[in-house]
Amino acid sequence: MQGRVQLSNRFFLNCVSPVIPVIWTGSCKLRPGAAGARVEIDAVANAPLPSPRRGGWIAPREPSLPQPRRFWIRTFGCQMNVHDSEKVENLLHHAGYEAATDPSVADLLILNTCSIRAKAEHKLYSDLGALRSWKAQVAGRVIGVGGCVAQQQGDAILDRFDQVDFVFGTHNLRRVPALADAALSGQRAARTNASASLDRFDLPERHPDLRSATPGRAFLTVMEGCDRFCSFCIVPTTRGREISRPASGILDEARRLAEGGACEITLLGQTVNAYGRHDLRRGKAEARGTMPFAELLANLDALPGLERIRYTSPHPIFFDDDLVRAHGELASLCPHVHLPLQSGSDRILQAMRRGYTADEYRAIAAALRAARPDLAISSDLIVAFPGETEADFDATLAVVEDVGFADSFCFKYSPRPGTQAAERAERVPEAEAQARLERLQALQARLRLAGHRARVGETTEILVEGPSRRGGRQLRGRDPSHRLVNLADGSGLRPGDLARVRIVEATPHSLIGEALGRGAACAPRGKLHDGVKAGPGPADALRGAEPSGGQPVGATG
Ligand code: SAM
Ligand code: SF4
Repeated sequence: MQGRVQLSNRFFLNCVSPVIPVIWTGSCKLRPGAAGARVEIDAVANAPLPSPRRGGWIAPREPSLPQPRRFWIRTFGCQMNVHDSEKVENLLHHAGYEAATDPSVADLLILNTCSIRAKAEHKLYSDLGALRSWKAQVAGRVIGVGGCVAQQQGDAILDRFDQVDFVFGTHNLRRVPALADAALSGQRAARTNASASLDRFDLPERHPDLRSATPGRAFLTVMEGCDRFCSFCIVPTTRGREISRPASGILDEARRLAEGGACEITLLGQTVNAYGRHDLRRGKAEARGTMPFAELLANLDALPGLERIRYTSPHPIFFDDDLVRAHGELASLCPHVHLPLQSGSDRILQAMRRGYTADEYRAIAAALRAARPDLAISSDLIVAFPGETEADFDATLAVVEDVGFADSFCFKYSPRPGTQAAERAERVPEAEAQARLERLQALQARLRLAGHRARVGETTEILVEGPSRRGGRQLRGRDPSHRLVNLADGSGLRPGDLARVRIVEATPHSLIGEALGRGAACAPRGKLHDGVKAGPGPADALRGAEPSGGQPVGATG
């Protein structure tokens, strides 16, 4: 029997009526969307059709999915992953894909994963189990897995989960459109090769259809990778070696972001203040087009339109005098530093291979506050690192109290495969670890509330992010010190506006403000505003993500 099929990712045989589903078992050079392909039917199946898998497509009787292909990205983890998802989203737009409004109408679902703690990795596996039914609902749907777990596991993900069609590593974002195209044509593949090339920074300009999770605010990658190898951390394995992006590319991108309406940028890097360090040390800064981090900040500060500059995550050992001074001198540098401490015990800091003592950390915090007295400092802390005693833990509580963190992300130590600390036998019992975590969180809650109460009566400026979780007409935004401010009545304000507000109330997790009036609008009235999402969207990636070191304020990974 012969006939013509309309290729829509499923095959419908049009020569007979009603439309008959066709299983394609051979390799296929035709792309979905191609019409009128001639096929020869060599067998007729009476049995129910098999589930879709490698080498064969089934054609159920659902209506065909429209072109172009629609994607949905789910992101786990830190800002670095959130920004990687934005980059993938941008690449897919350039390749002709469209953002789905909801996973239920997506053809392509991408999970951008995190492996910083075991919990984040397990979440991926449970999500993949649940996604079997998503995939089975509409034939031809494909699933891609990227990010840190993908980098670590590579092909093993394809072997273990037959519902996954492609895998891409942290250095392979540019390959995603080709991998997605191939997957939609029935080919499974993994691309996780590490690269030392600067190519990864050469990405296309922002596509007009790329929606902004927060109008007026943008991430900008300045360096990637990490050479520190802290004994608990998997990042050097998943993100590779430290590499700094040429300053010209960073400044060009910042300029374009500002022209496109971003008034706040957050510079990203696993150890962001190590920017340019390797090149300087080897006398290659000029050749590689990099410069000291403080100089990069000064250049960015000079760009018109950028009102706020933030960076995350810095490592305490890479604060030099110039960077400290920059906090007192650069008008656009926000009065907030996310400065991971991890532990306040010198013994544990040494076992963690952090490279500083508790007193050295206190000295950096004091120097920063001397340069910028209103500076808020937040942090990442790990409890129950192998061998941590009650006295070590008390030392951590002491530094938290002394420095007076505005906020912190507190984690129970999670052994990660291949890291030095995972080999250590002296594990803190789970009940003890949980008790320490709760004590630390209680201390942080007390400090945060005290910090909030001290703000009541102040006037500040917030960048409006979107609707408040409190509902009604309330809006939320962040002040320069990155404190969350909910506006009781946000009438007349829109996401992306800078608004003058008076703080009228302090709550444990946020400040309540009343709007005094609109400041300058960051984002031009156009795409950035039109794209504001009321609900979840592809770049709204932190929802559902496990906190991974400084989501609101801080760490990357
Ligand atoms: N580069 C930053 C630094 O050196 O401070 C940290 C970035 S790291 C990817 C994000 C945070 O996750 C860390 O600051 C640490 O608190 C936490 N983290 C990393 N590995 C962890 C582990 N094995 N168990 C628990 N928390 C961990
Ligand atoms: Fe690098 Fe930070 Fe991980 Fe240490 S904790 S290895 S500095 S990313």
